[in-house]
Amino acid sequence: MLGLMQSQQLLISTLIDFAERHHGEGEVISRRVEGDIHRTNYKEVAARSRKVANALDGLNLAFSDRVATLAWNGYRHLELYFGVSGSGRVLHTLNPRLHPDQIVWIANHAEDQVLCFDMSFLPIVQAVHSRCTTIKHFIALCDADKLPADSGIPGLQSYEAWIGQQPATYTWPEFDENSASSMCYTSGTTGNPKAALYSHRSTILHAFSGALPDALNMSARDAVLPVVPMFHVNAWGLPYSAAMTGAKLVFPGPAMDGKSIFELIEAEKVSFAAGVPTVWQMMLGHMQAGGLRFSTLKRTVIGGSACPPAMITAFYDVYGVEVLHAWGMTEMSPLGTVCTLKNKHLAMDSADKMKVRLKQGRGIYGVDMKIVDGEGAELPWDGKAYGDLLVKGPWVISEYFKGEGGSPLVDGWFPTGDVATIDSDGFMQITDRSKDVIKSGGEWISSIDVENIAMAHPAVAMAACIGMKHPKWDERPIIAVVKKPGSEVTRDELIAFYDGKTAKWQVPDDVVFVEAIPLGGTGKMQKTKLRELLKDYKLPGA
Ligand code: AMP
Repeated sequence: MLGLMQSQQLLISTLIDFAERHHGEGEVISRRVEGDIHRTNYKEVAARSRKVANALDGLNLAFSDRVATLAWNGYRHLELYFGVSGSGRVLHTLNPRLHPDQIVWIANHAEDQVLCFDMSFLPIVQAVHSRCTTIKHFIALCDADKLPADSGIPGLQSYEAWIGQQPATYTWPEFDENSASSMCYTSGTTGNPKAALYSHRSTILHAFSGALPDALNMSARDAVLPVVPMFHVNAWGLPYSAAMTGAKLVFPGPAMDGKSIFELIEAEKVSFAAGVPTVWQMMLGHMQAGGLRFSTLKRTVIGGSACPPAMITAFYDVYGVEVLHAWGMTEMSPLGTVCTLKNKHLAMDSADKMKVRLKQGRGIYGVDMKIVDGEGAELPWDGKAYGDLLVKGPWVISEYFKGEGGSPLVDGWFPTGDVATIDSDGFMQITDRSKDVIKSGGEWISSIDVENIAMAHPAVAMAACIGMKHPKWDERPIIAVVKKPGSEVTRDELIAFYDGKTAKWQVPDDVVFVEAIPLGGTGKMQKTKLRELLKDYKLPGA
């Protein structure tokens, strides 16, 4: 017997319809490439996304055709999120921080038909357009009068002219909720990048679960600042969950420096911000230097790489801001776990609470996890046993676009490539990427643990731990350190700083001071690049 409830497909168009009808006045604020602050609301965004849909129909794009973007976080990008997916096309967010050759490879692999780009990326588009063989239409996200006279890009149009003539009425098509809605290529540290292809259903379910109180706790009373880019895993789904809840959206555009982010938080009364640790590192540096305080920020979700304890402490103790440590992946849309405490943790003293908050958190409804040993046998949830982390759920990848790399699943579970523990309360803690774990004398050393201690030193701006070949121990950890401007610390002082904070054999053998740690397109440390940089390095005594 079937249930007797209305059957309605879970489509992305329903999000913007809802936001328009129930939160039409809900604000959408953007710092633009032009430098000014632009103000609009869900009602206008909805009308303009329908114009986008009409404009795409005008280009005769077929269902599931790919429309690419090279764009910062902003209202026009948001309109494309809804207009492209809502009309049945697939939004392909390209990462502008990739090498132009990679952008060409990805655009051709995705068979993008249209490319919409912010004017900051005009030089990239000028450099790559002739090699992007499937793109037929180039749209610059600007006013008609900002279009350069001779860009060299055939048929280049301005977004405002392109959608300007279109009607704001459009009937969103109804189709199977399992249809593809957007795609994002993984960073491809090994081999060519591979794409995760999200569906309308996976996107909506992810937005529902992501908005829950014990996840990101989104509401119509929030002003949300996604610093995490809309070109990387749909800004953690925030554009969708904001439309679902009517939260005010505040977009930083290209200005991601500490000063600009802080000023935007204050000016727009942001209550909730999301980003990778490096972004907050810059902002906290700016605030410390100027003795600044937040007046409205209540919580921040930090993920993408491990959040150093020093950062969590600074947010809580100095600024009174709650930190939600979160973990996920491109292949998981991306949310997997969020670290929100349970009742039993509230009575703990602050040192014990901190131990919990450092973990990447517990699975949100929809994501199941397990850890396994080298033979694939499930390990206990005791907070001690560590093994390969596998996940499954309705917004976890089943296979990559075009079947690239074969089936990624093992008995229906997706191997994340992370190594983790899970405690008896279900809190997962990443100890490493499996390829970054340091194997020393038959034991594993977590590079994250070694980095976290260095990051707590007041003179350290950033630290990356890698394993170096050792004749006796197989590998030994060393730590590459960027000093804070104007601060000093010696190798011996930093090694001594580990005293009493970790087991002796986990203390790095050496410290290498560097100007910068190589960061990838999504702000993650690129340890492969760091290893290349340090290829001539010799361990002391090795
Ligand atoms: P990406 O698909 O590029 O977003 O990268 C996903 C990977 O980033 C994960 O598999 C983890 O290795 C890492 N990652 C994401 N969030 C965290 C976190 N909170 N702590 C540690 N590593 C993280």
